[in-house]
Amino acid sequence: MGLLFAVVVLLAATTWVTRRWRARGRRRLLTTGPGSSVEHAIAVRSFDEIDAVVRTRRCECGRPLRATGEGARQVGPRRFRLTHLACDECEEETVLVFDVTDVVH
Ligand SMILES: [Zn+2]
Repeated sequence: MGLLFAVVVLLAATTWVTRRWRARGRRRLLTTGPGSSVEHAIAVRSFDEIDAVVRTRRCECGRPLRATGEGARQVGPRRFRLTHLACDECEEETVLVFDVTDVVH
């Protein structure tokens, strides 16, 4: 009985650690990963690619993120598109930066 209890506790702890680890990975991706800043902007060749990237992004809580707005920024000769994203579940907000210098109009 004591052993079973120990196994249950161990499984619960492992699940918790795994969840925390996954959440931290998602948070790291959102704060330092591709698209997190102008330095780490995601280079795209069309605006469709922006939509495709946005669709693959997940919030820290695991829910899909929704685009809530857009902005533009120019740094020297390079043009950037800032896409604001929000989570409907936990109201976490984030911004993805895309390098749209090579987008053909
Ligand atoms: Zn969320």
